[in-house]
Amino acid sequence: MRSFRIGSLFGIPIKLDLTFLLVLPLFAYLIGTRIEPVAEILNEVLGAGIDIGAITGGPIPWLLGLTAAVGLFVGVVLHELGHSLTAQRYGFPIDSITLWLFGGIASFSEMPEDWRQELNIAIAGPIVSVLVGIGSYGLFVLTPEVLGGASPGLLSGTRFVLGYLAILNVALAVFNMLPAFPMDGGRVLRALLARGRPYAQATQQAASVGKLFAVFMGLFGLFALNIILIGVAFFVFIAASSEAQQVTMKAAFQDVTVGDIMTPVEDLHTVEPDTTVAVLIERMFRERHTGYPVVERSATGEGLVGLVTLSDAREIDQVEREAYTVADVMTTDLQTITPDSNAMTAIERMQEHGIGRLLVVETPDAGGSFGEPRPEDGDLVGLISRSDVMTALDIVQQSGSIAPSSRPRTAD
Ligand SMILES: [Zn+2]
Repeated sequence: MRSFRIGSLFGIPIKLDLTFLLVLPLFAYLIGTRIEPVAEILNEVLGAGIDIGAITGGPIPWLLGLTAAVGLFVGVVLHELGHSLTAQRYGFPIDSITLWLFGGIASFSEMPEDWRQELNIAIAGPIVSVLVGIGSYGLFVLTPEVLGGASPGLLSGTRFVLGYLAILNVALAVFNMLPAFPMDGGRVLRALLARGRPYAQATQQAASVGKLFAVFMGLFGLFALNIILIGVAFFVFIAASSEAQQVTMKAAFQDVTVGDIMTPVEDLHTVEPDTTVAVLIERMFRERHTGYPVVERSATGEGLVGLVTLSDAREIDQVEREAYTVADVMTTDLQTITPDSNAMTAIERMQEHGIGRLLVVETPDAGGSFGEPRPEDGDLVGLISRSDVMTALDIVQQSGSIAPSSRPRTAD
């Protein structure tokens, strides 16, 4: 996702995602085309006394549409600030607030697992939205219908925007409180469920309810031909699934280290940097491996110099594979992890860098690059791949643990 920063509030960076730049004009347009019916509703429900004739001529509807859309997104930022400031109060750092296609996202690097904290953080956003709605309504009431000298268009326009924002912000709060995890209502549901059961189980249940809601939302959106609702439904479904999976893994891997599930160095197939790409590919087919650590052997010992994968090798045309060596195609900017790290950390690091495997290196401060053979940078003790992790997850879920006898004994 591409986003850029537009400022900060309470020390939290506020960012705009590029998709937001599509939504703002769309909302301005949608509101602009519905000035008359909306004004009629406001006149009926709130007794707004809007002079419809004064706000439907020329460019005024588009101006009102844009003002209301910007006002709506200001309300969304305040909603996210409600979540963020509550989270900060509990000591959880907030990376940023981003406005995107479906509204706002407050990014936390860490989530509370205490149900009371999650409940308060989740509910703070909708509470702020209700308060913003009440505030808009207050300003709406204070804006006179007629004021000597002021143009009736300006007064009616102001009352239109404020009345509309009052209703939209309350609607936003109500919509967010649907128990569609990971929306706010779903988080409230998880917090309440987590009172009496393990966090991972509460997440599973809340995510199931969320997915069910997403299906209903999607079907409703389909019948109502509401593309935004269909989009939100997709988003909720995918986000619910991935967060549930993340939490399940975290719970399953609570006591599992990288060392427990990695492929140890003695079982590891390695290649040398001067092996040709043709030989490498032939070995990959024969040994059914798609990634090899590249190890250089010299008089002083062995040194790790890189990692080569099938996709690296495929960059060379078939006819030229005899002419290129592993050293030409391997990756030298290596991502490493220590064997005593938690298995979950390994997954997070792979996701963060968009890679499928990490080298396991025994050294307290591994993580540098291995441009040249420098054995003092740490000893290669194994390799952990995405499939190692998924296999381990299967085993943990089916048997309850990773063969404990294989774990190194630690005195603690
Ligand atoms: Zn929210």
